[in-house]
Amino acid sequence: MSDLNPCMTCGACCAYFRVSFYWAEASDGGGTVPVQLTEPVSPFLRCMSGTNQKQSRCSALEGTPGEATRCKIYEQRPSPCRDFSMSGADGQVNEACNRARAHYGLPPLYKDMLFHTSLDAATAALSGVQLPAN
Ligand code: SF4
Ligand code: SF4
Repeated sequence: MSDLNPCMTCGACCAYFRVSFYWAEASDGGGTVPVQLTEPVSPFLRCMSGTNQKQSRCSALEGTPGEATRCKIYEQRPSPCRDFSMSGADGQVNEACNRARAHYGLPPLYKDMLFHTSLDAATAALSGVQLPAN
């Protein structure tokens, strides 16, 4: 098993789901997410721009999903991204993670796989995680 965190060579979830969140998480509402990287969904919801379309791709994602990706606003990312877990982390399968990975031809991750998931700064900046669209 690789010592690398699989997110470092994935990024599939950042280019598969709609990433929506309460509008006030954006910087114009006092939150951290740069408002220019978001778009309105409803009076109370925003999403990361680029994710509310059939072929989703977050505007904050750099790189190529399935190869190497990086979130350019990792420290400011919205709550769905913070809450989304890589499948296999903490012994839990996340089918949404595996569904996004399958879309990019990547194998599923299961709870009996061992990963080195402690993130140093470089690894953390490369991982991309978020909640599936509703
Ligand atoms: S959480 Fe899952 S889909 Fe998202 S980057 Fe990590 S391994 Fe890929
Ligand atoms: S982790 Fe970053 S690149 Fe991925 S969806 Fe969230 S904001 Fe976009």
